[in-house]
Amino acid sequence: MTNRTTNTYTRGLHQVAPGVSAWLLPDGEWGMSNAGLVQGEGESFLVDTLFDLLLTTEMLQAMSGTTGNSPIRAALNTHANGDHCFGNQLLADDVTIYATRDTDHEIHHGTTPERLRMLVTSDFGPVTSPFLRSCFGRFHFEGITLRAADVTFEDALTVSVGGRDVELLRLGPAHTAGDAIAFVPDAGVLFTGDLLFIGGTPIMWAGSLENWLRACDRMRALDPTAVVPGHGPLTDLDGIAEMRSYLAHVKDQIAEGFAAGRPWRETADRMDLDRYASWPQAERIVVTTYQAYRQAAADTPAEDGIELFGEMAAWQQRHAGKR
Ligand SMILES: [Zn+2]
Repeated sequence: MTNRTTNTYTRGLHQVAPGVSAWLLPDGEWGMSNAGLVQGEGESFLVDTLFDLLLTTEMLQAMSGTTGNSPIRAALNTHANGDHCFGNQLLADDVTIYATRDTDHEIHHGTTPERLRMLVTSDFGPVTSPFLRSCFGRFHFEGITLRAADVTFEDALTVSVGGRDVELLRLGPAHTAGDAIAFVPDAGVLFTGDLLFIGGTPIMWAGSLENWLRACDRMRALDPTAVVPGHGPLTDLDGIAEMRSYLAHVKDQIAEGFAAGRPWRETADRMDLDRYASWPQAERIVVTTYQAYRQAAADTPAEDGIELFGEMAAWQQRHAGKR
């Protein structure tokens, strides 16, 4: 059943405009991502698949109840994180999958389902391992075969879906190298992927912060009436403004720490998150700070994913009592 109420955050399909729906997946934390559906005459367009085959099957079954004679014929992966593309193999072979060139590259060379499985089953010590399991332990990474894009684009592409336009725009690098959004102009609905987290803290795996701020401005300029974030409940222009203010808040302190010659770990540790300290996953500031330093100074030593998750786990423990 399509839930016509747009302001409730419940698991399932929510109609946000005529023929445009969001698939919401509370609690919106690590891997609990949203997706979207645009229905045209005789065909539909999907925005993102989900983190595992069970989640994606549940979503596609629910969608098939509303698509009727307009089956999914095309899809966008907003970016390469597994919670937005690991379900691709469940789409019919004749579904055309779109992604930016950078996202396609990252799907081919990024974190695999096997690696995620290894992260939750291996022992990385008493701080890191419980954190990794809290992030990814609830998902099922077995049986996933990566399926990448059929059509890639650089900056922008308009796809016609049964008589309606879906505009695909690349706004990254920010959350990842290839972040793209999907905008449905006739309905005023914007699907942001992980350029927007609502009720949670953003994490910058690529960036820069300057470009993410620019991405917020470009999303705002589209003047959407409904905004579907990559994680969290439905929002509107206020949600974009809130994300922008967080990014601007941390950007200033990171620049200050960098200018003072502080190591990135210390800058992340001393960060005054102010009112954003109560946002879930506040520890993601660790990765955002690290990436901002990498942008500012290419000789910042590279850290691998396990090291960064370990740093987030440690940050979370150190700051647990202060929030
Ligand atoms: Zn995500």
